[in-house]
Amino acid sequence: MNLGRFISRSARYWSGAPAVADKRGSITYAELDQRSSRLANALLGLGLEPGDRVAMYSLNRTELVEIEVALYKAGLVKAPLNARLSLDEAIHVIEDADPRVLIVGPEHAEQVLDRQRDLPSIEHIVVIGKSGEDHYEGLLFKGASASPDFDLDPEAPAVLHYTSGSSGRLKAAVQTYGNRMALIRKSFMIPESRSKVTEKMAHVGPVTHASGMQIMPVLLNGGCHYLIDQFDIESLLATIEREKITRFFAVPTMIYRLLDAHQGGKYDLSSLNRITYGAAPMAPPRLREAIETFGPIFTQGYGAGETTSTITSLLASDHVRGLADKPELLASCGRAFGESEVMIADDDGNPVASGEPGEILVRGPDVMQGYWRAPDLTAEVLKDGWYHTGDVATVDEEGFFFIIDRKKDMIISGGFNVYPAEVESVLFNHPAISECCVVGVPDKEWGESITALVVPKPGASVSEAELAAFCTARLARFKKPRTFQFTEELPKNPNGKVARRLVREKFWQQQDRK
Ligand code: AMP
Repeated sequence: MNLGRFISRSARYWSGAPAVADKRGSITYAELDQRSSRLANALLGLGLEPGDRVAMYSLNRTELVEIEVALYKAGLVKAPLNARLSLDEAIHVIEDADPRVLIVGPEHAEQVLDRQRDLPSIEHIVVIGKSGEDHYEGLLFKGASASPDFDLDPEAPAVLHYTSGSSGRLKAAVQTYGNRMALIRKSFMIPESRSKVTEKMAHVGPVTHASGMQIMPVLLNGGCHYLIDQFDIESLLATIEREKITRFFAVPTMIYRLLDAHQGGKYDLSSLNRITYGAAPMAPPRLREAIETFGPIFTQGYGAGETTSTITSLLASDHVRGLADKPELLASCGRAFGESEVMIADDDGNPVASGEPGEILVRGPDVMQGYWRAPDLTAEVLKDGWYHTGDVATVDEEGFFFIIDRKKDMIISGGFNVYPAEVESVLFNHPAISECCVVGVPDKEWGESITALVVPKPGASVSEAELAAFCTARLARFKKPRTFQFTEELPKNPNGKVARRLVREKFWQQQDRK
């Protein structure tokens, strides 16, 4: 079955209902179906063949959803770039993806056209919002409105998902059409998470990242997407109220900012019935605060680009249990769901005893085919079909997973292993802390010594001595930060996750200069 043609089915049911909207207005299911077919035919008309890559470099806007559906209909490979990448970073990604067409948003158009000579693989730059022959609206006009008609090979690549690259080297997880189908099947598995016909999902983060995983599931159920181009906390709150948004996905940092901004309940957010968070751990005290503020509407997903979407989920009902009688659940990323197997293994890939820490391994229809043109990197993480996530976790007798940390983030101080996430989870219990990041910094005596960067809550004040005393009472001595630094903001990667690597690098470079 051609994944894109699901939309033609939806268009029969909900023809005149809004499918996608942004601040400029909305398009209906019938329009989405027609426009995506036109684009699919126009791209094939340019000589593109199934398997060819089409890169996208644009802020969130309705066209990104049209393009996604069009590429599925045409059997092409989507190579989405995060719009927040600098032009040089974007060019680096484009070189790697080797696409024949690049579709750019108006905000990047001029810069990209200026650097066309640096993009040798690109035969066509298509600018959104421009109507010339080669540009978005012009191209749509050239294509026929009937959906292209062929079946897709489940083994064929559908998406090059560029990861946040915590190891430093640029890499893309190749997600196949089969992986994408598994994502859709999964979206129907848990009734409380399943999208409804009344859904209006806001996309706060780039639809090229985790938020975009819900594009197809929502469209198969008759709901509507609302794309927000820039993250700004006040305008998000105002949009939820004005557009009667029912759900959104956010990284924990966004939820902390929402909480800090929503003090006193300025906005009417009663339309919300689901907030999904993930991509990084959320601090239990702040999660508790969030549930008390917004209600028991939180769902967590744990996954990676390499697993196409979430592989464990902490449901709203689990959060309620966490508040009532099993508080440790608020620190869990939930139970495995979907078709893939999930296990915790030792360094040799053998399962560990229940309750023991080990690395999370995943095998099944969610797991990527490999990294794009990087067999060496693929071999490091895919062994006998098992994807090695690099995340260290335990699992309890009920099947709830608890992530301790990422293998690579571990700090070795005086020969002791310290997981920064554990230290951060203690700091988050301090009422004055909005956000924090703990890293190891070079130290002649200890190898690494532990430093905490702390963002205080608006209007709160706290001293280094107070935080040191707070940690002394709650952490073993070897885990206690030796220094605390206050800052207004932590560096984030383009998806909004705290960029621990950047924080670390800053300290290591300072050391090099000494
Ligand atoms: P990415 O592919 O960039 O989304 O990064 C995937 C990584 O993000 C995972 O391997 C985890 O380390 C982290 N991650 C994703 N979801 C969660 C979660 N719910 N809790 C903790 N860490 C998470």
